[in-house]
Amino acid sequence: MLRFAPSPTGDMHIGNLRVALLNYLVAKQRDEAFLVRIEDTDKARNIEGKDTEIMQILEKFAIHHDQVYHQSEHLHIHQQLAVKLVEEGKAFVCTCTPEMLEAEREEAKAQKRPYRYSGRCETLDKTALAELKANKTPYVIRIKKPDATIAFDDLIKGRQESAPFEVDSFVIIRADGSPTYNFACACDDMLSDVTTVIRGEDHLSNTPKQIHIKRLLGYDEKTVYAHLPIILNKEGKKMSKRDNASSIKWLFQEGFIPDAIANYLLLLGYAKAPQEVFTLPDAIEWYDIREISKSPAKFDLDKLRFLNREHLKRMDDKKLSTVFGFADAAIGKLAKLYLEEASTIKELDAKIKPIFSPKSFDNEWGEEMRILQNAIEQAPYFEAFDDFKAYLNEKTQLKGKRFFKPLRMLLTGAEHGPELSDVYTHIKSYLLEVIS
Ligand code: GLU
Repeated sequence: MLRFAPSPTGDMHIGNLRVALLNYLVAKQRDEAFLVRIEDTDKARNIEGKDTEIMQILEKFAIHHDQVYHQSEHLHIHQQLAVKLVEEGKAFVCTCTPEMLEAEREEAKAQKRPYRYSGRCETLDKTALAELKANKTPYVIRIKKPDATIAFDDLIKGRQESAPFEVDSFVIIRADGSPTYNFACACDDMLSDVTTVIRGEDHLSNTPKQIHIKRLLGYDEKTVYAHLPIILNKEGKKMSKRDNASSIKWLFQEGFIPDAIANYLLLLGYAKAPQEVFTLPDAIEWYDIREISKSPAKFDLDKLRFLNREHLKRMDDKKLSTVFGFADAAIGKLAKLYLEEASTIKELDAKIKPIFSPKSFDNEWGEEMRILQNAIEQAPYFEAFDDFKAYLNEKTQLKGKRFFKPLRMLLTGAEHGPELSDVYTHIKSYLLEVIS
């Protein structure tokens, strides 16, 4: 089982999507199931509706799940497992107050050493738990720090080792009874038998904690980890909400299509791709997650634009037509003529819309446009542009620039663009609508 475990706390960004794509891809390669786990245990940070939005985005990218659930559904299991650890002496209850802990943190800071839990409550066992419950005294549950170094081989980052004091005796259940991220995550990965965890490198320091939890819970299976390097913006800083291009919503609004975004994200930090332009199903055939570079990847909008254009070129004509509200393939073909100058749906739309909008005659060619408009209204249907042109030359007596400029403006609403004969091929069945 592989999983994508988003928190419904904000808009999906490219880093999340990259993680989802890679987990799905590896699940397909290994013929394992793919789970979506909405990590909604941090109630204060959850934003209503983000879970649905995440699922819709995954669907747009054809990232299909075999299972989906909200982590909060497992709250009782997390609590039971924590109590089990206390009963087994692998975790303890802790009544240190936030003020005490803060003071210890300050002290550590003043002494310029990393803060670690003092160990003060380490001996509070299951008997203490019963008492605290009866007295309604606030407490948290902490897992006992490991006895030995925790090591694992990350598929991308290589060997990682953490000494016991680095893992520390950390909180697994908060005073309000909710599980911390590390505990909920480790329990659920264990319960779903997640074989491989692929996620952002910001979680690298959580991994020894999660390995430790699973070990103490008696989980014998070895989980494989792959931590993806961060994505940097043009300035070389970590891409953040402030970078528009990090938001999937923004990319869609700007007219980038899912195939291109997926292609771009899979290509980030991946030098071994046999070709630059590919789809997710293509990548499933040859992608090797171990080949992802260890160092951060820089986000390059121009490269994404290039890939977007390439995927638009390859898009089914009929499908592309529907983007502009047409059902037959002609308008998709027409749009493709504009891919020389446009790279996104938004830019194509700015070319296609004027063709089908009422034309303005308020320009230096207005008079000729009127003459041509009248002639076309009376004209029979011509299959070939040459015949259409010959007919209009004859009827209007307009030639050369006085013919082509106004005709172009009448047919396309623009002064420049692709060859008129090519444009004509695709709009000839819409002529009366076009020249209105
Ligand atoms: N909810 C966490 C996140 O979105 C999940 C991390 C993980 O994959 O374990 O960052």
